[in-house]
Amino acid sequence: MGLLEGRSAVVTGAARGIGEATAKVFAAQGARVVVTDVDLAGADAVAAAINADGGTAVAVRCDVTSEDEVRAAVAACKDRFGTVDVMVNNAGITRDVTMRRMTLDDYQIVMDVHLKGAWLGTREAAVVMREQGSGAIVNISSLSGKVGNAGQTNYAAAKAGIVGLSKSAAKELGHLGIRVNAVQPGLIRTPMTAAMRQDIFAAREKDIPLQRAGEPEEVAKAVLFLACDLSSYMTGGVLEVTGGRLM
Ligand code: NAP
Repeated sequence: MGLLEGRSAVVTGAARGIGEATAKVFAAQGARVVVTDVDLAGADAVAAAINADGGTAVAVRCDVTSEDEVRAAVAACKDRFGTVDVMVNNAGITRDVTMRRMTLDDYQIVMDVHLKGAWLGTREAAVVMREQGSGAIVNISSLSGKVGNAGQTNYAAAKAGIVGLSKSAAKELGHLGIRVNAVQPGLIRTPMTAAMRQDIFAAREKDIPLQRAGEPEEVAKAVLFLACDLSSYMTGGVLEVTGGRLM
């Protein structure tokens, strides 16, 4: 019996990286998964791979900055699978540059995708979950939101905001049987970090007590823990998945 047997989940930004790994780990644990991304072809490929492996998944295009598209993605899960038991707000982008050269657009798009996107996903999922009297929401923050990072004033602000959003939502929704938690990954090997200079990536790895970057599946397993009943008495929590970096 899988840890998410009979449950339905929406994962945003699931065409690749941590979102893709989360969708696949959830499906392997019995969840029916709505794989969403702004990149529909990528989401389609992930859903097809899950179905080919004997799981159940559908792909839906969802730009998390769009209220209508987030609402439609949640509705697709409810219509197709009957419930929305888990919502993972994972979609993300970076526009790293020091403030001297950061434009307002660089700031705004990062805030919109991460913070507005997670807020919309939390709000829309909660509408369905409150009717069910149960649900688990997992928001993907970042270690940058805890310690800050030069060149990431936009990203770190959004990721710290996700912690405040998650804790506030946990307080609002706990009495309705809805848990809200956040995950703060450290340096994880995904297409997002593949864009980093290799010497900087290698130097960061040396700083990590476990002496290596994490794999997307290692974050996905922490998300699974917060999504399933193993964490039934946890809400408003922030789980670091960092190999011990900047603890
Ligand atoms: P990734 O490989 O770049 O994947 C992110 C996915 O989100 C991509 O498929 C991307 O689509 C999608 N996306 C971007 N904008 C979107 C939007 N407006 N609506 C819906 N989907 C959108 O990144 P990742 O490394 O897996 O990161 C996943 C999450 O973990 C992010 O929130 C990130 O900030 C967080 N995180 C990552 C690390 C790390 O080291 N990798 C560390 C801490 C936190 P496109 O490819 O089409 O843009």
